[in-house]
Amino acid sequence: MRRLPVYFVLDISESMVGENIKKLEEGLNNIIRTLRQDPHALETVYVSVIAFAGKARTIVPLIEVASFYSPKLPIGGGTSLGGALYLLMSELDRTVVKTTYEHKGDWKPIVYLITDGKPTDSINGAITKWKSEYVSKATLVAIALGTFADISVLKQLTDYVFILENTREEDFKKFIEWVTNSVKSQSKSVSDEPTDSANLAKIDETLLSLSKGSDETHLADPNYVILTGRCQNNGLPYLMKYVRDIKELKLQDFAVDVTQYVISGCYPVEGDYFDWSDDVSTQLKVNTSELLGTAGCPHCGNISAFGMCSCGGIMCLNGPGDVVCPWCEKEVTFSSGGDSREGFDVNRARG
Ligand SMILES: [Zn+2]
Ligand SMILES: [Zn+2]
Repeated sequence: MRRLPVYFVLDISESMVGENIKKLEEGLNNIIRTLRQDPHALETVYVSVIAFAGKARTIVPLIEVASFYSPKLPIGGGTSLGGALYLLMSELDRTVVKTTYEHKGDWKPIVYLITDGKPTDSINGAITKWKSEYVSKATLVAIALGTFADISVLKQLTDYVFILENTREEDFKKFIEWVTNSVKSQSKSVSDEPTDSANLAKIDETLLSLSKGSDETHLADPNYVILTGRCQNNGLPYLMKYVRDIKELKLQDFAVDVTQYVISGCYPVEGDYFDWSDDVSTQLKVNTSELLGTAGCPHCGNISAFGMCSCGGIMCLNGPGDVVCPWCEKEVTFSSGGDSREGFDVNRARG
């Protein structure tokens, strides 16, 4: 039996925390459930899942859909798209059966790359290698979630670059249906009459736009700020997500745009967050005066998730007093009142 290998390469960086990662998990589940009911897919499709944040790893090795068990997706810091591509290429080498004189190998593999951010590692080497050795060996379909993904990088990898601008519930559902239908038609086409085209399902253009032509999207500014904190009671990480809110401030003769970020949630993450993050320390800073609102600790219920040690680490707090910083393990004293009006710089995650 000739297999149709399908690789899902999924961005699990911090900006995916909360709803997005849940939608992605459920989406993957739905894709597999539907494929199991399709006779062509059930026979031919094999699925693998590669996740990447600061590190890239295979979390589901290539397996038939009947035996596929949907994984819980982790979250990490960083967007190592370069690392993910290298891993993908080595997985393609390792797992795809090549056609020889004696027997026919697997069908041309299909890769769905889903990302919402910009690469934080160096990517040029991986792009060059992909273009020279792999572009003809696999069909890559890249999907940008939201408008801040780096379209110009994706376009260097493939002609099939789609943008899902809205990740609202119903749009995401339709998007997952589109991926499912594409895999179905791909598995049908290999059993009927194999072609070299990607055989993607028909696109609802109000939903997904096929990115064409110019590199219009080179947006440097993410529309959120994510801060990584740690619970002082159990040491586990959490992510505070702030969403950009642009206000036009009208002064006498001119208007200025004031960027502020409003808290949208504080999410607990697992201890494996650090295993999925890269070690590169971020130089990105945000001033606390731009951040509106705070949240409680999602692990222990402490009132504030926003205490900062002189080491730069953020931790949860329950009012003034002496605590041990979960980052540097030194004792810190938090006094009441203080300089909260001033605003200070904190490290932000890259998303
Ligand atoms: Zn806590
Ligand atoms: Zn510290």
